Amino acid sequence: MESVLYAMVLKNLKSPLQWTELPDRRPGVDQVRVKVAACGVCRTDLHVVDGELAHPQLPIIPGHEIVGRIDAIGSNVNGLQIGERVGIPWLGHTCGDCPYCAGLRENLCDHPLFTGYTLDGGFATAAVADARFAFPLGEVGTDESLAPLLCAGLIGWRSLRIAGDGKHLGLYGFGAAAHILAQVARWQGRSVYAFTRPGDLATQDFARSLGAVWAGGSDQAPPEQLDAAIIFAAVGELVPTALKAVRKGGRVVCAGIHMSGIPAFSYDLLWEERQLLSVANLTRQDGLEFLRLAPQIGIVTHTSRYPLQEANQALTDLRGGRFQGAAVLLP
Ligand SMILES: [Zn+2]
Ligand SMILES: [Zn+2]
Repeated sequence: MESVLYAMVLKNLKSPLQWTELPDRRPGVDQVRVKVAACGVCRTDLHVVDGELAHPQLPIIPGHEIVGRIDAIGSNVNGLQIGERVGIPWLGHTCGDCPYCAGLRENLCDHPLFTGYTLDGGFATAAVADARFAFPLGEVGTDESLAPLLCAGLIGWRSLRIAGDGKHLGLYGFGAAAHILAQVARWQGRSVYAFTRPGDLATQDFARSLGAVWAGGSDQAPPEQLDAAIIFAAVGELVPTALKAVRKGGRVVCAGIHMSGIPAFSYDLLWEERQLLSVANLTRQDGLEFLRLAPQIGIVTHTSRYPLQEANQALTDLRGGRFQGAAVLLP
């Protein structure tokens, strides 16, 4: 085992991550230590860096789409082996006692810890994680291709379930999550309508290449009324826009952890039993379900790879929408 680890560390909000040498970390009795092979970059990392989430903890190593192999293991850990490939997601710890944990809604736990936000994450050569929240990934698929499944895929999956089983599904914001979810929705026999930033023809083409039946700007109306819409973009103006696009009784699901202000809108957009919901975090059950399905669906993730030390460039490119699909850091 190495005696040090290297990480891209957020030391001050709204400033670049800094390449930092840190002392090696040993796993606690309920933890595993993972040699990071790949870590996805998520919009939530931008919200962490920008100080848009409450109670930021600094310094912090961001990154919550970790794929790696266990290289040290705590004495209480059962069911995981040294050398096994695992994925570590956003939800990094729950209390197990609160009403939400007791009620199978651990995603809403009163005392949670989140990887890359309140627990050090995967923009590093190694990470320590609560073993109960490490998902075995098996040996199918490359580390790089699996990383985006750990948040973009998982949160997308929970959003899709909450959107209901309507056939006509709108996706607002066609980034890492939507590019995975479009493949899942199509596999389920749904029709996907992809909405991008107005004029972003390249992303509209990308959406059609993944099976979207229609792609256009978020300022356009879809050709069919939608049964449900999921908003991945962190843009509050899209809430009334999406409500306008769904039929009576339809659902609009906000999938992001942060969104700009939602403008006032007239009640008739919500009237007729339209529903507006949000999705927060994930449960381990979501993870197990989705990771079991992913190989059956044959999801192909489109990734842009960056060396770990170029994490700041990856964040800048994500902010600017400069790549299709998902960015992945490789140590
Ligand atoms: Zn709890
Ligand atoms: Zn995420």
